[in-house]
Amino acid sequence: MKLDGRRESSNVDDRRGGGGGIRLGGKGGLGIGAMIVIGLITYFTTGDLGTAFQAATSAGDLTSVTMGADGQNVPYEPTAQEQELEHFAKQVLASTEDVWTAEFKKLGKTYEAPTLVFFNGSVQSGCGGATASVGPFYCSADQCVYIDLSFFTTMKKSLGADGDFAYAYVIAHEVGHHVQYLLGNLGKAHAKMAKLSQSEANKVSVQIELQADCYAGIWAYHEQKMFGSLEDGDLEEAISTAQVIGDDYLQKKAQGYVVPESFNHGTSQQRIKWFKRGFTTGQLSQGDTFSYSYEQL
Ligand SMILES: [Zn+2]
Repeated sequence: MKLDGRRESSNVDDRRGGGGGIRLGGKGGLGIGAMIVIGLITYFTTGDLGTAFQAATSAGDLTSVTMGADGQNVPYEPTAQEQELEHFAKQVLASTEDVWTAEFKKLGKTYEAPTLVFFNGSVQSGCGGATASVGPFYCSADQCVYIDLSFFTTMKKSLGADGDFAYAYVIAHEVGHHVQYLLGNLGKAHAKMAKLSQSEANKVSVQIELQADCYAGIWAYHEQKMFGSLEDGDLEEAISTAQVIGDDYLQKKAQGYVVPESFNHGTSQQRIKWFKRGFTTGQLSQGDTFSYSYEQL
């Protein structure tokens, strides 16, 4: 991606190290059905949405205080590599703001941007506590996208998913969940999931995740149209990432066999298909995964 000279978003909350300071609550209260949407990778998680839901509904209003041993705030000093990733993430976030503001305007709506939270190791979100091992995630209760930037190194080392556009896809996917939230799709889907058995709820989860993939593709379409930032190989980076974060691929890699009832993000083929659908059309209307039966996804 060519992002030279592009602006950084200021919708960022840096909670790394001890520099987080005191935080009270989030943008919104914790509504019923507010739930953590675990990021792209289920490989590192139990994939147990019930647990996440429980965490979300029991979290209450959060107060987290980050102090050094002497009771003083400790400013975090990122490494040069972390600074580079931070700069990149802020630029991609800014791009999602530009793209989604324009797309929402077409719908006669106003886009309210999410906040990108940087953390190290573990974090208290409006949906409960989380560690970096779950990967980046979106929490609708506080409308924040949470990311430990070391995830990108993990992506590269454990999955071989590398390249700036692969990273941009991850951020765009999480922002995609925020778009789902603003459009009301996320709340509806979560309410539905709460009434279903685990295996049926997993199917709805797949619809949520594939829609977020499609929205990431829609973002990429408009990013290219507005700024022409994509370079040769970028699209392939996103597609190879979608390939290695498919449920089937990850399960096979982890345990040697697949359990389709436990899929909650979609297969590699599905993830590629929906990302591409967004990327080739650029149209929100193309991302209605909920109007398809599970078998048709
Ligand atoms: Zn997701």
